Amino acid sequence: MRFVNVNGRAGIDTGDGYFDVEEASGGALPADPGALLRDWSRFQDAAVDLRGPLRELETEQLQAPSPEPRQVFAIGLNYRGHVGEAEVEEPIAPTTFTKFPTCLTGPVGDVVLTGDTVDWEVELVVVVGKLARGIDAGTAWDHVAGVTAGQDITDRQQQRLPPVPQFSLSKSHPGFGPIGPALVTPDELGDPDDLGLGCTLNGETVQLGRTRDLIFSVPELISRLSHNVTLLPGDLIFTGTPDGVGMARTPPAFLRAGDILESFVEGVGTLRHRFVADPELVAAR
Ligand code: ZN
Repeated sequence: MRFVNVNGRAGIDTGDGYFDVEEASGGALPADPGALLRDWSRFQDAAVDLRGPLRELETEQLQAPSPEPRQVFAIGLNYRGHVGEAEVEEPIAPTTFTKFPTCLTGPVGDVVLTGDTVDWEVELVVVVGKLARGIDAGTAWDHVAGVTAGQDITDRQQQRLPPVPQFSLSKSHPGFGPIGPALVTPDELGDPDDLGLGCTLNGETVQLGRTRDLIFSVPELISRLSHNVTLLPGDLIFTGTPDGVGMARTPPAFLRAGDILESFVEGVGTLRHRFVADPELVAAR
């Protein structure tokens, strides 16, 4: 199933268009994508027989498929190529921080730059479908609603302010957490542990990787996180970025006003964002 958020209403994308979940269920299911995610198992059972009048899917109307997760986990340094370019040691446990949920946005639109060192990080994002506490990696995918594409946009200058890195704040400015264009259930993906992902900046490929190269795989992340915290339906896990981020390039490259960043995950789709200057920062110069 391809689950979409169309202007705040849940839909199912059939490939030929989408239908509205509340309408197709005759009002038995809510329109709110977040409400459906909080009761995902029941929705999945009901969705099998759902059919409704098809409408054209317009990219501009798409919003974040899990719009208001209670928790957003993000993992740093989870691909060896990125560990190498960051010039740090390989972690012995997942480097975990949060992207505060108000940074989430949809798969297309404008993102306001917070300065001259805003960077890109394409990532596979996992959407939790079932409460998970202390589970084994072997059953981890059973607790997943689906996956989506994401960008872990980061203000590097703020991230690296001494004395300790500010991962969570530097990655949580409004618009710094785009996800979409759809939540895709694992059964739709050939091998959910081996998906291509990448991004282009103004048409030039800057990142290209595969999730089989994750240091801590999706099942491993879910297992380890669930032994520490309780994962809730609708929660997001940004799983880490492959190499090719701007700060590691020679010379370093960062996002500029007018830049177009396109990010994809194989089997999921593409995000497209344009970066715009913060009018207050421009006025202060
Ligand atoms: Zn990241």
